Amino acid sequence: MNGPEIHIEFAPELDLFVPQARRRGPTALVTDGVSSLGHVVESLGVPLTEVGELLVNGHPAARSHVPAAGESVRVRTVTRPQRIEGAPLRFLLDVHLGTLARRLRLLGVDTAYESTDIGDAALAGRSAAERRVMLSRDRGLLRRRELFAGGYVYSDKPDDQLHDVLGRFAPELRPWTRCTACNGELKETPKDDVADLLEHGTQRTYDVFAQCTACGRVYWRGAHHDRLERIVEAAMGCHGDPG
Ligand SMILES: [Zn+2]
Repeated sequence: MNGPEIHIEFAPELDLFVPQARRRGPTALVTDGVSSLGHVVESLGVPLTEVGELLVNGHPAARSHVPAAGESVRVRTVTRPQRIEGAPLRFLLDVHLGTLARRLRLLGVDTAYESTDIGDAALAGRSAAERRVMLSRDRGLLRRRELFAGGYVYSDKPDDQLHDVLGRFAPELRPWTRCTACNGELKETPKDDVADLLEHGTQRTYDVFAQCTACGRVYWRGAHHDRLERIVEAAMGCHGDPG
């Protein structure tokens, strides 16, 4: 290319995406003179979902800005908590994030999840249609123009994923209000109403019942409860509303 030369510097939080030679300090880059700054950043491997403020010669600039010769560009990461405009905060997770999906639902966060691989186009379409923030570890998916909004999931460990997503988007937490299987809302239910659906032992031993208003699944305090309680307590300790 024979276009204008700029200098570009990325926030260290974006190291994962930035070619090694461009980490730690500004590097020279020859652009084509017509591409927007957003396009330039993305073409270096950084998903725009992870990009916050762009500074050109120290001043905030739009992604549509076309960089000119000699400009000095700084690329910041998203600010936390990140506010999503245009819809109540809700998520869509891809096929690889099933554990994270169940944990978000356990905390009452509206979380759709595709348990089969429906393809990037269909996922992006659903994100747009339902105005859900697409969470994924797939950079290609996060480049889709149709997305309502998106976020890269940095860890492959569910504990870290949950901490990261709660810290980044700060959703309101309402534990034990949502079906972990289907994302439906739970309502408390008298035991008599669900007795037919319960094993005899369960009916005798446990008293607190809730039922999913969407799929009918019955919840009670029993097996696995301690493990789930620990997940809830850890999340509420770090990310719950104070008081
Ligand atoms: Zn359900």
